[in-house]
Amino acid sequence: MPDFSRFYALPITERVARLGVSFEDNLSLETADQMVENLVSTLELPLGIACHFVINQKPVWVPMAIEEPSVIAAASFMAKQASKLGGFRTKVDEPIMMGQIQLLDSTDWDAVQSIINKHHDELVIQANQVLASLVKRGGGCKEIIFKPLNAKMAVVEVFVDCRDAMGANLINTLMESLAPQIELLTGAQTGFKILSNLSDQRLARAWCEIPYASLDPNPTKDHGREIAQRIVNGYELACLSPYRAATHNKGIMNGIDAVAIATGNDWRAIEAGAHAYASQQPGGYGPLTHFELDNKNACLKARIALPLALGVVGGITQTHPRVKACHKLLGDFGSSAQALAGLMAAVGLAQNLAAMRALAAEGIQQGHMALHGRKSR
Ligand code: NAD
Repeated sequence: MPDFSRFYALPITERVARLGVSFEDNLSLETADQMVENLVSTLELPLGIACHFVINQKPVWVPMAIEEPSVIAAASFMAKQASKLGGFRTKVDEPIMMGQIQLLDSTDWDAVQSIINKHHDELVIQANQVLASLVKRGGGCKEIIFKPLNAKMAVVEVFVDCRDAMGANLINTLMESLAPQIELLTGAQTGFKILSNLSDQRLARAWCEIPYASLDPNPTKDHGREIAQRIVNGYELACLSPYRAATHNKGIMNGIDAVAIATGNDWRAIEAGAHAYASQQPGGYGPLTHFELDNKNACLKARIALPLALGVVGGITQTHPRVKACHKLLGDFGSSAQALAGLMAAVGLAQNLAAMRALAAEGIQQGHMALHGRKSR
């Protein structure tokens, strides 16, 4: 059971001692030289720990690599408020990623569709031969579909359960190995062959409830419900204005990216997926979180859903010593891609809640100052 109490007040060495995980080893130039081209050095970022997270009833230390001040404190603060009503709950889809093979130069897409349908099962078998390492772990190719896009172009979409890997390299390899057989069967030319970062089959969801009283910076004033209402108003602005939604979602990604970097995940892929998903909402680009008042129980209900294509294997997850230390710190939450996705969704929700509360409460303070000003006139 982590001891979160007054963690912030400890000297750095005592914080590390309390975690029981060593962060001494760092990325060597030799290892870094294997990762990128033209290496000259490595670049440090602050690595901090968010406290008070209770996710699916399990308390967990959350490692966050980020240069921006206040992010870790804000996440910890809101996690503490959420823990008063049980913390965060999560639900995460199976780790399904999709790759596309572009098809060109056919005059009869209906015929191509029939051929793909007819050979579906044998194409899945062929895919699973390429993905033997995933099949062995319960994953592999699940579905292949054909989609005509316009008179000149169509796409074959291949859905793969990537288990605990992010899956980009696995899928790209698979797309390139399936393409010749698809050309042979259909007579169409294949073009681009690559995974999609809009991994909307791989959603992570988290939700929590915050007592109104916990939203009030000055609980004696009993403004919690009013602040909750202001949060909902701000959320509705994000639903109506993409200019607000972009900043709303940036606040979410402050938390998600920081955990992604600490755990060696591809934050560019996560960003691409999150914003593409946010654009798929009925009204166009909108917020990834949702807020509503629960007056009966005097609490704000908050939830988030976004695609999270993460790995706890592959990439740099097992080569960067400090990333390895972060996975160790996460315990069960670092043991599967789905568990890590649930945790990251919860962190994104906490981060957004903290920013919304600050905006709403500051507004209240300014309102009071204006009132004060009017009174003193
Ligand atoms: P990877 O190439 O390291 O493959 C994962 C490996 O882990 C596979 O060999 C697999 O067999 C093995 N494995 C071991 N245990 C496993 C388990 N429990 N579940 C699943 N696999 C297991 O990594 P990847 O996930 O295929 O690709 C991720 C990397 O690809 C990231 O570094 C990312 O930055 C990069 N990338 C991303 C994009 C993109 O997002 N558009 C494109 C290209 C590359």
